[in-house]
Amino acid sequence: MENNSYDFELGKIKELIKERGAKRVGLQLPEGIKTVATDIAAEISKETGAEVIISGNSCYGACDIDEKLMRNVDMLFHFGHTETFLQAKKFVVREKVPKKVVFIELRSGVDIKPAVEKAVAEIKGDTVGLVATVQHVHALKEAEILLARLGKKAIIGKSRLKYDGQVLGCEFSSAVVPCDEILFVGSGGFHPAGLALYTGKRVIAADPFTMQIGVYKADELRKKRYIAIERALDAKSVGIIIGMKSGQFNLSGAIDLKREAVGKGLDAYLITMDEISEDKLLGFKVDAFVNTACPRLVEDFTHFKKPVISIKEFEVVLGERRWEDCFVL
Ligand code: SF4
Repeated sequence: MENNSYDFELGKIKELIKERGAKRVGLQLPEGIKTVATDIAAEISKETGAEVIISGNSCYGACDIDEKLMRNVDMLFHFGHTETFLQAKKFVVREKVPKKVVFIELRSGVDIKPAVEKAVAEIKGDTVGLVATVQHVHALKEAEILLARLGKKAIIGKSRLKYDGQVLGCEFSSAVVPCDEILFVGSGGFHPAGLALYTGKRVIAADPFTMQIGVYKADELRKKRYIAIERALDAKSVGIIIGMKSGQFNLSGAIDLKREAVGKGLDAYLITMDEISEDKLLGFKVDAFVNTACPRLVEDFTHFKKPVISIKEFEVVLGERRWEDCFVL
């Protein structure tokens, strides 16, 4: 298989299919891993005789189960995320994820120590909160020992998710520890930017695959959000976006917000969406949007023509929340 950095747990998958007598199974993989989807499908199909259907839709988190595919298969294997997300979040889950959905965590076999060692040059304080995505969370203890040898104390915080030290782009409870900075182990800017924004701390991101080290500053990220709020202060009308993905659906929250907005004299409309993009928003005649779906996505909307703000940011616009309380976890 082309991507051998991850444990795809194919043995376990094949066993489960045989054990449960599944005739038709679905595969759902995150974007970067879709390259191996056909290899996995071919192997499963050859060894179990099951018909395999690959989801071609996006898959950004455990919030994002392909429900249509799920309804058409006996088992759905969802790769790259942990199931506890749905219990940990406050989102209203539209339907309980049934037993036929099996989460495959995709643990990485890559050694994280070289990247952690390289990141130490960027750490200014003595103590770091040490966090990772689920792919690397099993290696955090090793990183903690290495950091101690290099003169830095690491704290792996308790998490509301499945593992201590684990974070999502919208769930940072394990980063709430007494520390000077946060050291994040994982890929991409989505998690470290959210960590900086919501903890208010400087975040050093170490990517064990590319060996790239990034630094994310809370002040700079928060400034961009304050600009979006300021722009929304002039809005006379708002579109309140309801995410239709199973773990992001927050209808009652959106209806409450609409009521509050109307109470403050604004025109407010409820708009459903699977995924939010600028071209999907362009056609609506409103001055600003409030995103009640994936709470982290607002940071990616800073370049949009009209302001897209989070629920808490909208509460600032309505005068119901203080600016400085926008980023409480
Ligand atoms: S950050 Fe967004 S996509 Fe990721 S788990 Fe949270 S709600 Fe889902």
